[in-house]
Amino acid sequence: MRCIVQKYGGSSVADAKRIKQVATRIAETAKNGSRVVAVVSAMGDTTDRLMGLAREVSDGPEPRELDVLLSTGELVSCTLVAMRLRTIGIDAISLSGAQAGIRTDNRYGKARIAGVDTKRISTELDSGKIVVVAGFQGITEHHDITTLGRGASDLSAVAIAAGLNATRCEIYTDVEGIFTANPNFVPSARKLDHIGYEEMLEMASYGAKMQPRSIELAMVYNVPVYVASSFASSTGTMIHGEVDSMDSVGEIRNKARSVPTESNVAKITVRDVVDRPGLSASIFEPLTDADISVDIIVQNASVGGTTDVTFTVGSEDLQQALNIVNDTAKKIGAGEVLSADNLAKVSVVGTGMQNSPGYASTMFRTLAGAGINIEMISTSEIRITCVIEAAFIEDAARALHKAFDLDEIS
Ligand code: ASP
Ligand code: MG
Repeated sequence: MRCIVQKYGGSSVADAKRIKQVATRIAETAKNGSRVVAVVSAMGDTTDRLMGLAREVSDGPEPRELDVLLSTGELVSCTLVAMRLRTIGIDAISLSGAQAGIRTDNRYGKARIAGVDTKRISTELDSGKIVVVAGFQGITEHHDITTLGRGASDLSAVAIAAGLNATRCEIYTDVEGIFTANPNFVPSARKLDHIGYEEMLEMASYGAKMQPRSIELAMVYNVPVYVASSFASSTGTMIHGEVDSMDSVGEIRNKARSVPTESNVAKITVRDVVDRPGLSASIFEPLTDADISVDIIVQNASVGGTTDVTFTVGSEDLQQALNIVNDTAKKIGAGEVLSADNLAKVSVVGTGMQNSPGYASTMFRTLAGAGINIEMISTSEIRITCVIEAAFIEDAARALHKAFDLDEIS
């Protein structure tokens, strides 16, 4: 029997009316003869509100308490969805992350899933129920509640789908699928029918709206993930392993597939770092310990025995990162620490970029043509990313979308 895991994001369950609509959708899937597990996020901006409340009563809320508080958002939505399902005559039960068997480590606020024990979910499914699970949360081996990081209900859903060996994981959200660029920036952006895990992973890490860890997990367990709108009935995007790279408009293989963008990027430069083994490690280790993720790193050629090291962090981590790096710079006898905010990343992603020169120069030439200065560059086998001033992000995305032939084919 088909087993479908559906995830509904915060905007899809934002109020009672939407919760009723979601329940109807879940019920329809079940009527088509599938076993259904629904994973829900907290209603609307509940998580932000709870976070705000915590900050009002405490400057530094204790992470363990904060996680219990935040986990309540998803409990509200999962119980309401289950109640609605029963009201329309469908047998359903809600489960917290803990009850659903999501086991995690104890890194509050960004816990990692250690395993999913699907026994309880399976028992409920076997008895003919729809199971509605609270996303975003789990439980440690000492029975403490944890949360998995912002936006991590996607991850809960994929983990449960992997654990159940589900037919697929469907993510219902406020966008119609995965686009070739952010449609708010690039009006000619197109929805992709299919995309491979690797491309999606690069896109998710570089700005497309999906939680990167959930894609990673889907790739490891080979869970097909379908992303679609919970409001419209249009076809969404299928993320999976074997992609023929042909989307509905006859996309040919080996082309750039998308231009993801990401705002809220900041950079830090440490001047005059002595050019000696171990010094880079001493800059980045304390950041890792503080769970600050560093992205693009550039080290200048050494002049007179010292180099400058520049790297990007998310704007939200800038202040904390600066405090740490200032300390380190003193300890290792480096020079000034400089920083800049208001940066953005624009990338070109596509498996076809592998082993084909020309993509980088086209990208740089296009940005130059639009009068946009490149501050930093990074590449993977299937991606080129430029850091630019945030003010130019829309211009950059539009110019690149056109230059790489991604504009709508009319
Ligand atoms: N409610 C959580 C958040 O807002 C988890 C999620 O939406 O996926 O981050
Ligand atoms: Mg949310």
